Amino acid sequence: TVPLSQDEAVQGTNDDAAISRASAVTAGYMEDPYAKVFVKRPPRKPPLINRGTYTRTLVLDQLMDAFVARFHAEAPATPVQIVSLGAGSDTRFFRRAATWPQPFLYYEIDFPQITGRKGQTVARNRATAAHLPDYHVECGGLDLHTETYHLVSGDLRQWAAEIVPKLVAHGFDPARPTVYLSECVLVYMDAADANAILDWVTANAGTRAAFVVYEQIRPHDAFGQQMLANLQQRHLALPGLLGCDDLAAQQARFAERGWATVEALDMRQAWERLVPAEEKARVAKLEIFDEVEEWHLLMEHYAIVHAEYQR
Ligand code: SAM
Repeated sequence: TVPLSQDEAVQGTNDDAAISRASAVTAGYMEDPYAKVFVKRPPRKPPLINRGTYTRTLVLDQLMDAFVARFHAEAPATPVQIVSLGAGSDTRFFRRAATWPQPFLYYEIDFPQITGRKGQTVARNRATAAHLPDYHVECGGLDLHTETYHLVSGDLRQWAAEIVPKLVAHGFDPARPTVYLSECVLVYMDAADANAILDWVTANAGTRAAFVVYEQIRPHDAFGQQMLANLQQRHLALPGLLGCDDLAAQQARFAERGWATVEALDMRQAWERLVPAEEKARVAKLEIFDEVEEWHLLMEHYAIVHAEYQR
């Protein structure tokens, strides 16, 4: 058998994310009527993973909802743009299609292998298709568009040359208020490629932009080394960690580019500060959970960063 390339292995990480989401829904951690559109019969993940997936979803939802609401309130007639880098099988658009204030434009970018499959799946399923009025496909079925939602195929490492022209052809204007999301994506790219996206976003932002990043950090301690070894077994590396491997570095990459407000937390801090007490009590009852030490270690190895640009 031919070993997987990093690109193929990275595409495979999307299956993991989708399975984890569906598992957390099945176990009662969160509600997401769309998670099982992508994974019909999810294998059950360990309590640790379910709780981690739940925390990541809750915290990212809080941040995304807050940015969209605020940008909308500041300029109600201007569409808020959401750009999800490496969106994979993320369900956020479908979960928020009916609740976020209109107008907004939602762009999801991923490799063609992923967008082609996602487009077919969401167009065929009745629950997701209900949010895709009058959709049409482009690029031989790899891209799918409605007035609001744009599923765009391409390689994020070709950001300015390949991705931006496709976004612009579908109504994107970087000068409008825009929220960029990278959920476990930039870290799989070389730092130079991730930085090229950040530089472009910074140079082209209008009066307002926000960036939300969720990804692995702290590869140097014993737990971090184990995390890397586990990934390596699956032919995966985290080249993005080079030069951006802790909270200070995560913060610095925005601060150095002049982003006004940046906060970087690890997920242990996020769980403690951002998950409401009644939610903590509710999820504590869902499954037997005795891996407290491992839970803390796992959560300390993921960062959640949100940055805001203001001109
Ligand atoms: N953001 C989704 C989530 O959290 O559920 C998916 C995360 S998955 C771990 C990483 C995704 O990023 C995969 O779908 C992968 O194909 C995509 N990705 C990574 N590098 C990419 C690149 N250079 N161009 C396009 N997509 C990329």
